[in-house]
Amino acid sequence: MSPFDAQTGYMGRLAPSPTGLLHLGHAATFRAAYERARERDGLLLLRNEDVDPQRSKQEFVDAMIEDLAWLDIAWEPPMVVQSQRLALYREAFERLLVAGHVYPCMCSRKDLAQMMQAPHEDTDDEPVYDGRCRPADSAGSRALQPGVNYRFLVPDGEAVRFVDKNLGSQAFTAGTDFGDFLVWRKDGLPSYQLACVVDDAAMRITEVVRGADLLKSTARQMLLQRALGLPPVAYFHTRLLVDEHGVRLAKRHDALAVRTLRQQGLSSDDVRRMIDAALR
Ligand code: GLU
Repeated sequence: MSPFDAQTGYMGRLAPSPTGLLHLGHAATFRAAYERARERDGLLLLRNEDVDPQRSKQEFVDAMIEDLAWLDIAWEPPMVVQSQRLALYREAFERLLVAGHVYPCMCSRKDLAQMMQAPHEDTDDEPVYDGRCRPADSAGSRALQPGVNYRFLVPDGEAVRFVDKNLGSQAFTAGTDFGDFLVWRKDGLPSYQLACVVDDAAMRITEVVRGADLLKSTARQMLLQRALGLPPVAYFHTRLLVDEHGVRLAKRHDALAVRTLRQQGLSSDDVRRMIDAALR
């Protein structure tokens, strides 16, 4: 029983991955999430998306908590920590496996690199998997094989549609805009897509606020929600930040780390003005 179970109204979340410092893009998205929760008298939770032990670092968890406070973005404790919730993801994965929604993929990194073209420039999105490990029929083994990656079998040709609260009508076609995506990793950990969907439901999130670079992930996650019988969620995708030439501000640009801006003597109000100028 979590302290949030009694909440019936708006429930939002901040979901940073502690793999680097928060940058201006996070600040923009988190500010929108904070304002939307506040305007609706809702709660805003913080979820530390640290499922990847190789990339996650405690120093970035400490930094994000400090940076959020400096940005005046308040959230409702306790922080939800994904690395402590692995049993929940595993249970969801097993349900997908038994229902025939996932299949083992034996492709090596090298296979994937050869088969896939470079990701599209203006998103961080992964290329479409060509389905070479898809089972020939749906009666494949539904027993969990350890040490193997598993992919979600997307319904090719199906349009996944939703009305985004910020960007309006969206439609992505399974098999074209995105392919069979990873749900379970061979090291025994869930993918971002699976952990995110399971947690959004478990935390009773009513609206997901995140960057527009994750629009296709939203489509993937809607398919996962359906397969798992989880309730739908509303979405508000924030526009990507651009410079004065309309070029996207690169995500991993150190100069745009909230911390760097602070060390340069900027105030949180200055950062807010920078965000407003870049959200055109
Ligand atoms: N952890 C993800 C990121 O930092 C965001 C996940 C989400 O908002 O769903 O990119």
